[in-house]
Amino acid sequence: MATRLTLKPTSGQLAEIQLSTTAEIPERAHKTQNRFRHILIIGGGVSGLMTAWILLDKGYRVTILSKAWASRERPLTSQIAGALWEFPPGGCGIMEIETPLFGYSAVEHYREWAMQSFEFYRLMAERDELISRGLGQAVGTEKFGAKMKTLFQFFRQPIEATTGVHDRHDPHHDKYHEVKTLDQSVDSSFRDQLNVKYHVMTDAQGGKKTNSRVLTDLVDPKNQFNVACAYQHAAPMIDTDVAMEFLMRLVQRKGAVLETREINGDIRLHEAELLNAYNADIIVNATGIGARELATDGQIFPVRGAVKKIKRPAGYPADAAFLLPAQVNPDGSVGKTVFIVPRNDDTLVVGSITQRNNWELNLSLDSPEVKAMWERATEFLPVLKNADRDSQSLAQGLRPFSHLNVRVSPDSRANTCRIVHNYGHGGSGWTLAVGCARTCVRLVEELLDTGRSANAELCRL
Ligand SMILES: Cc1cc2nc3c(=O)[nH]c(=O)nc-3n(C[C@H](O)[C@H](O)[C@H](O)COP(=O)(O)OP(=O)(O)OC[C@H]3O[C@@H](n4cnc5c(N)ncnc54)[C@H](O)[C@@H]3O)c2cc1C
Repeated sequence: MATRLTLKPTSGQLAEIQLSTTAEIPERAHKTQNRFRHILIIGGGVSGLMTAWILLDKGYRVTILSKAWASRERPLTSQIAGALWEFPPGGCGIMEIETPLFGYSAVEHYREWAMQSFEFYRLMAERDELISRGLGQAVGTEKFGAKMKTLFQFFRQPIEATTGVHDRHDPHHDKYHEVKTLDQSVDSSFRDQLNVKYHVMTDAQGGKKTNSRVLTDLVDPKNQFNVACAYQHAAPMIDTDVAMEFLMRLVQRKGAVLETREINGDIRLHEAELLNAYNADIIVNATGIGARELATDGQIFPVRGAVKKIKRPAGYPADAAFLLPAQVNPDGSVGKTVFIVPRNDDTLVVGSITQRNNWELNLSLDSPEVKAMWERATEFLPVLKNADRDSQSLAQGLRPFSHLNVRVSPDSRANTCRIVHNYGHGGSGWTLAVGCARTCVRLVEELLDTGRSANAELCRL
């Protein structure tokens, strides 16, 4: 693999794009005029940095303003993320797409964005693997922090007993039907890479059984979660600290200017001043939960989350992640999940907490909900009890959800507006980052070409 990645055309992106993992700008030779165009991005999380990378590799000049940057001491939401890639909708149904039928985007957008991101992470994982094996001469020495691992996702009802008709309470059953039978519009190489396998956990008499070695070895057969079956598939997992550092370094090497600055209030009121002050052509708003204020978007709300980071205990395989519904509400919806994801070969991220509309970042390892979260995880996988207690820590953050789903669209409050939004990624910011950034860049280019916003509130891929 060279230092260049080619992201193929997809149903949503008609043109392939070239990305390079060095200071080189692959498209500069063909797009010399882009050098005279300057894009101002607000937000230094994964959404802003991925958008910056693609713009820079198309030859644009980029400045990023952010009130805070990734750091190990004061991590951004993008670093706190479990950063598990999931075929949307994610999170056992409680991290579902808020408004499936009406919003800025629909499940089809999420899946397209997720598949574009999958392809990117797969290529970065291949590159990281070469570096690990000392074969990285041609690709560089700095890892992105991506690895392809195996996700086991569990269900309480046997999948084969469901109809495949959308079930409001368990969209994951639907999802599994679709993953198994991914239709022809989906690139078959993606289906092959997913490598989906199905496991029965309970036999016809209700006795516990599994047909997977990993599951037999790890899952406590007496656990109370009544999981009936599981599917496994390949999924990228990201070491977010490493990836954010990689992205920050890379965009700076490619010439992006990073300035620490907080923008307060409605971004529309700052539009003219910012465009003038930075001599910029377009503004991209990638401020995560901050978009509630910047885009005056009352549909944005936080879902407080926390994950415990532990040293991977002996007996836990380095390449397996687990996700299951751990509590089902009286109405049949999922109330709590168990989420166990390797961050890298040494560390596991164990979660998760999902508390809607809670803005307080005041949880500790002793908080009752954190203890309950840990008990759920250890009941399911007793091997976690062997984890070294002294090296455990807690990370917490606000997932930037929107009642109207992810928004990647021009600001249409005035058709001359030169703002493109990329926010509201909820619990799927890493899953969607690359696809959303590609769409965002396409919208920026449309605005540059036409000088007008398409006035389309519904995302177009
Ligand atoms: C506990 C937890 C677990 C998660 N697990 C997963 C997972 O497994 N998979 C997954 O895909 N996603 C997961 N997520 C979600 C993911 O973290 C987010 O969707 C993603 O980080 C959003 O990225 P972003 O760049 O849009 O926002 P952020 O990372 O929040 O970045 C926003 C940036 O904008 C800046 N900013 C904000 N306001 C302003 C302002 N007014 N002026 C200037 N700058 C501003 C901030 O300083 C920051 O740099 C999880 C999140 C949490 C909290």
